[in-house]
Amino acid sequence: MNRKGTIGVSTQDLFPIIKKFLYSDHEIFLREIISNAVDATQKLRALAAKGEYKGTVDDLNIHVSSDTSKGTITVSDNGIGMTAEEVEKYINQIAFSGAEEFLKKYKDTAASIIGHFGLGFYSSFMVSDKVEIVTRSYREGEKAVRWVCEGTTDYTMEETLRDTHGTDIIMYLNKDELAFAGEEKIEELLRKYCRFLPVEIIHGKEKEWKDGKYIDTDKEHTVNDTKPLWTRKPVELTKEDYDKFYHELYPYAPDPLFYIHLNVDFPFTLTGILYFPKIENRLELTRNKIGLYANQVYVTDSVEGIVPDYLTLLHGVIDSPDIPLNVSRSYLQSDRSVKQISTHITKKVADMLLDLYRTSRAEFEKKWDDLKIFVQYGVLSDEKFAEKAVDLSNGGFYLLKNVNGKYYGINDYTAAVKDIQTDKDGKTVLLYTYNAAEQYAYIESAKTKGYDVLVMNSPLDTPFFNYIEQKNDKLRFVRVDSEIAAKLVPADNDTAAHNLSEEDEKTLRELFNGVLPSNSTPASDSDAAPETSETSATSAAQDLLTPHYSIEFSALGENSAPAVITRSEFMRRMKEMSDIQPAMSFYGKMGDQLSIVINTDSPAVRKILSAVDKENIDKKEIAGQIIDLALLSNGLLKGEALAKFLRRSASMLE
Ligand code: ADP
Repeated sequence: MNRKGTIGVSTQDLFPIIKKFLYSDHEIFLREIISNAVDATQKLRALAAKGEYKGTVDDLNIHVSSDTSKGTITVSDNGIGMTAEEVEKYINQIAFSGAEEFLKKYKDTAASIIGHFGLGFYSSFMVSDKVEIVTRSYREGEKAVRWVCEGTTDYTMEETLRDTHGTDIIMYLNKDELAFAGEEKIEELLRKYCRFLPVEIIHGKEKEWKDGKYIDTDKEHTVNDTKPLWTRKPVELTKEDYDKFYHELYPYAPDPLFYIHLNVDFPFTLTGILYFPKIENRLELTRNKIGLYANQVYVTDSVEGIVPDYLTLLHGVIDSPDIPLNVSRSYLQSDRSVKQISTHITKKVADMLLDLYRTSRAEFEKKWDDLKIFVQYGVLSDEKFAEKAVDLSNGGFYLLKNVNGKYYGINDYTAAVKDIQTDKDGKTVLLYTYNAAEQYAYIESAKTKGYDVLVMNSPLDTPFFNYIEQKNDKLRFVRVDSEIAAKLVPADNDTAAHNLSEEDEKTLRELFNGVLPSNSTPASDSDAAPETSETSATSAAQDLLTPHYSIEFSALGENSAPAVITRSEFMRRMKEMSDIQPAMSFYGKMGDQLSIVINTDSPAVRKILSAVDKENIDKKEIAGQIIDLALLSNGLLKGEALAKFLRRSASMLE
């Protein structure tokens, strides 16, 4: 048999297109060729199971080798093989049909499609000038066939010899692609794409360190784990197994918080293990750590659009034959089964967390601080998940933690503080601090009122509060420094109580206004140029940026600080939201709105008033000192102002 022919499609342009448009992803040729080899061995196993193949299937494997001097890579399997007719049918005729269809569909947009599709066998031409197939069918009496094609639509076919059934694909690399034949390069690609394939992939020999270098041993080097953990039954596995597998995937990561073993048969097939990673540093939140597999073949690790957005923060693997291997990402994202997968995973994750919350509350609490950010992100980005996490009828599994380190479900907490912390509008005020040490004085003031204070220090807290308040208009989150303690939970009989006469108030207001920082030094480091008509516009803009201080008076008790700084919850949240939402960036640029509440009970303030007529007391100095102390305790006194304060303090001791 000696045949020549033309490959059965009219698309003359196919090869240039294969080369050009798949350029960014050339390396996937190896995945495609090895996937075919895996299919070929599994088909043989299936035939054996049905009794149609009598030989052994215990030694099915795939050998990958390369020869850098010849510039070749060879992939050999001992699978089902092909007869001459099958080569004719599957390689010469049919193999192109997928490619042709693909071209028709994406003719104009091919260049814009990101490269997670393949063209099966023909992707070998992305890197090769010539490809040779040597194959022998498992069927008794069939002759081996050699097929050769040099990257045009012509091929040759002839009879040849092959010891056993199976197929060799020999790729003669293009001179620009010779790097792929390097042993280390192949090993790298095999680790990436073939690490968990179900058939043994053998690449060279195991090495050992001898006489100062690595040398080959007699033992074959198997690249892959043919039974990765996610394909095994959860009941057979221990936490140690899951942790070990996690460390195989992410060698430098700390132990994960939780894992979920996914196992679905209907209405689609899906297996996998998802891990909640422990995040050591918030800035390190990394996406795309989930590997997506189709029948143990690696597809991609950019899973956006395939799993719900917030779950891209998780680690692990998802494997579904329903995830199409050879299509573009935009297709994946609109695919129905992919959508179902996403919904299912959300449900699974939420159910697992709820279950842990109910059955292992202590363990759940221990991990909550690390887990919280995932849950918040889930609540904010996925309504279905949110309904389970903060189910306002039965509480869900969202935890609140107070400054004493005690954890509560949202409903339990609300019930516990309701009596004391409900305001005149019937809303329960949930007080919080971002840092118990920095806001110590505010927390103490709140505690003297009998209030409880939560710790909220995640970057997603502000949008999370907004979400909860929108869902439940009987709840309100208020930071401890947003008002003086007496006004944190406003009651009907509140009066802005201070005990000053009108005249005293006027005197004090003038005095304190005269020493406010924004009225003297700009907060930014720009030069305070003399104002001209050209600079007045910029200085108006500058005005917006600098913090704006206003003076208020309140009787806070003799033992409280002479002045307290508060910042409006509303304005602060607007600013914080603007960091997250670009559309609101205007608010982010606005200066802080700060109130300096002067404590009219304080002996220092009283001293100023009683000293009105006494010449030996510098009222302005005391007022300045009072303001600076308040700024200092909020970390707002810096640079020159701080130096001035220190000098003044020292001189007051003289
Ligand atoms: P696909 O794998 O998507 O069907 P390919 O172009 O990769 O498309 O392969 C076409 C066909 O060629 C396969 O369906 C299979 O029948 C046959 N084939 C390819 N590689 C092998 C192999 N290593 N062993 C046996 N048959 C193969």
